[in-house]
Amino acid sequence: MDLKRMFICSAVCIIVFSLTMVFTYRYSVPTSAVIDTKRDKTVVVLDAGHGGEDGGAVSESGVIESDLNLKFTKKLKAILEINGFNTKMTRSDEGDLADKSLKTIAERKKSDMYKRLDIYNSEISNVAISIHQNMFPAISCKGSQVFFSGRVPIAEKLANNITTAIKEDLQQKNIRESKPAGGNIFLLDNARVPAVIVECGFLSNEDEVKTLCDVNYQKKLSFSIFKGFMNTEF
Ligand SMILES: [Zn+2]
Repeated sequence: MDLKRMFICSAVCIIVFSLTMVFTYRYSVPTSAVIDTKRDKTVVVLDAGHGGEDGGAVSESGVIESDLNLKFTKKLKAILEINGFNTKMTRSDEGDLADKSLKTIAERKKSDMYKRLDIYNSEISNVAISIHQNMFPAISCKGSQVFFSGRVPIAEKLANNITTAIKEDLQQKNIRESKPAGGNIFLLDNARVPAVIVECGFLSNEDEVKTLCDVNYQKKLSFSIFKGFMNTEF
């Protein structure tokens, strides 16, 4: 689906209420979500993982996770905003949030993570979606996986709905289920709002790297994440 056409469709839906059902049918986006009735008051924190001196995973072909995370996050931001939601990016360029005066990489990383958490838990924030890419020694691994914060019950539903949308739209053979953070993902374990991490795919699988770098695929996957969000009653 061409994103430009999708944007035009969704813009028309916002203006002309009578067309909402057409949009719903066409893109399977329900209009019943509670959050849907107060779009203009909803702020979705969008967190492109890594950045700055922490590039995250790097594929054998040289694709850097932090760059890819930002590309997906910007597309998701555009889709949310055209549909009337507010967004807050933790970072909108290649840089990180770290306090640069700190001496060690470990200290700067910690400061970066705490600053992201402050944004997740800020007064304006209603929900947080973080975007990452996966890496695994077995290069055959591929497909998306979503992790959720165990502290806020609705996060599991959000994660499951995003997983379902991605599988239905793009990855029918993906059998991976969403998983709780389980005490080892700092941001999810400490978020006070519903928070999920979407691992879009594996940078250890070169076939998937090609797919992940495809701009149309980035748009489609971002739209599936949006669908999962819309299917969740907050
Ligand atoms: Zn990552």
